[in-house]
Amino acid sequence: MRIDVVTIFPDYLAPLSLSLPGKAREKGLLDVRVHDLRDWTHDRHRTVDDTPYGGGAGMVMRPEPWGEALDEVAANRPTLVFTTPSGEPFTQALAKELSTREHLVFACGRYEGIDQRVIEHAASLGEVREVSLGDYVLNGGEVAALAIVEAVVRLLPGFMGNAESLAEESHEDGLLEYPVYTKPASWRGLDVPEVLLSGDHGRIAAWRREQAVRRTAQRRPDLLAPSAVPGGGELK
Ligand code: SAM
Repeated sequence: MRIDVVTIFPDYLAPLSLSLPGKAREKGLLDVRVHDLRDWTHDRHRTVDDTPYGGGAGMVMRPEPWGEALDEVAANRPTLVFTTPSGEPFTQALAKELSTREHLVFACGRYEGIDQRVIEHAASLGEVREVSLGDYVLNGGEVAALAIVEAVVRLLPGFMGNAESLAEESHEDGLLEYPVYTKPASWRGLDVPEVLLSGDHGRIAAWRREQAVRRTAQRRPDLLAPSAVPGGGELK
């Protein structure tokens, strides 16, 4: 997969060479390029923003540098991801969808956001997705791009050493994951649930499913709409 990120703070994306995305780059699964939007400005001050038409507080990102940047970076019909709090919510399902794309281009907004015409025009370059990390406002799109890249890259075939660990994670089956434990069996007076020491795989699977449903009902009842849970969401 190829990923391009356009930002006015390229240093913000340094973690892409660490940790999981770094590993994917080493394995040759990922080609990441980070671009400074100001490289497509032509004035002495490398200006990327201006006052909003219609008035109001803050500044808006000008269309010209974005237009030139995307014409260059998105020349081979990628999926263009605009990070914005007014976008579709980022979910595991969307991460899966994006992981099937060959080329993602991230446009990181700042100030009050990017001139809307950039997003309209981007539709002539490829598939456009406006994506929100959640119902809160960040200062810029860089953190959102980092989070989306990390969630997408770990789904790339061949990336995870143990693909099974992906299948059992939170949100994979519409439920939050059951609680997990490791050695020692007893720690500070707290014991690992007996069923996990039983070696009885049927009982363990049933206990885990029950715990996942219970936890989801307590913490995220919105996920338990009957249509949201394969096999139903009833508590046993
Ligand atoms: N005025 C905008 C609004 O109310 O929707 C918020 C602009 S925010 C201060 C600046 C930039 O941060 C946005 O253009 C976007 O790229 C990014 N951003 C902020 N919150 C975000 C979120 N929840 N998800 C994705 N990107 C976000």
